[in-house]
Amino acid sequence: MTARILDGKQIAQAVLDDLRAMAASDDQRFGVAAGLAIVRVGQDPSSEIYTRALLRASERIGVHANALVLPDDIDESGLRAGIEALNADASIHGILMQLPLPAHLSQRLVAETIDPRKDVDGISTRSAGNLFLRLPTFVPSTCAAVLEILDRSEIPLDGRRVVVVGASNVLGKPLAFLLLHRDATVTVCHIYTRNLAEKTREADVVVVAVGKVGLLTADMVRAGATVIDVGINVTVDGSIVGDVDAPGVRRVAGALSPVPGGVCQLTNLMLLKQTLLARQRLFGGEPDA
Ligand code: NAP
Repeated sequence: MTARILDGKQIAQAVLDDLRAMAASDDQRFGVAAGLAIVRVGQDPSSEIYTRALLRASERIGVHANALVLPDDIDESGLRAGIEALNADASIHGILMQLPLPAHLSQRLVAETIDPRKDVDGISTRSAGNLFLRLPTFVPSTCAAVLEILDRSEIPLDGRRVVVVGASNVLGKPLAFLLLHRDATVTVCHIYTRNLAEKTREADVVVVAVGKVGLLTADMVRAGATVIDVGINVTVDGSIVGDVDAPGVRRVAGALSPVPGGVCQLTNLMLLKQTLLARQRLFGGEPDA
């Protein structure tokens, strides 16, 4: 068997077309452009690269995005004031706080200060609670990207056994709840999981989000299963690889979302989709995201 490749680039093109249309029709409905604030503290080069990519994607869709760089010696009251100003700014519908923060600033402060109606990357405590309770909410954009790939590739989830490898607050945990809410039977694995292969071999869908080259090998995958690689690892020669041993797994799996060319293609678009949804919800007068 050779796995069908779930082509992130192709899916991204279809999503981009949909979002452009959604942005244009909502611009007319609301008479205000969708606004996204991309906030970071200090001049981290990899955050800068990410910001530039997001600004380009925003422009293609028709979202007005602005990067706001706060000084790296800003204190917690300054950071809180910066977020509160964006919460109150009617031209801003989505706020992305780039993480991690410098060590002297607490992520909790951001999670508790950002307005959940504008929390388009799903990092606030309210967003996490809403997700847990299956209330309307925003979710981390990478998790939304995984679901978008599965849905657009028509991979069924209801009643299926899904194993998520990785249990972080931004990936494994929120993804597990999203999959549970799609009626999958979900197992979450992490560094203390004993006999990982035994778990993954039982799965109809395996999502790997760890950051370890070659973690998922062919012998850990059931024939015909769907494998979604979320990991991003930079090799010594500077190339990007995922967590999945793709050449081996391709021979066993039914479908594979690879790295590069998979989930990453969708992450920014999902953030922008949630920004468009935030504008809809703010204009719709919903009390919460
Ligand atoms: P993280 O915070 O470091 O979390 C990694 C998770 O993997 C933890 O839950 C950890 O378990 C678990 N883990 C570590 N070693 C393991 C092992 N040998 N077996 C099973 N589980 C293991 O990382 P993250 O932020 O979630 O990111 C995960 C990967 O996704 C990274 O490669 C990152 O670069 C990538 N990523 C991709 C995108 C995208 O757009 N494609 C976006 C964000 C991140 P414990 O909880 O027990 O420590």
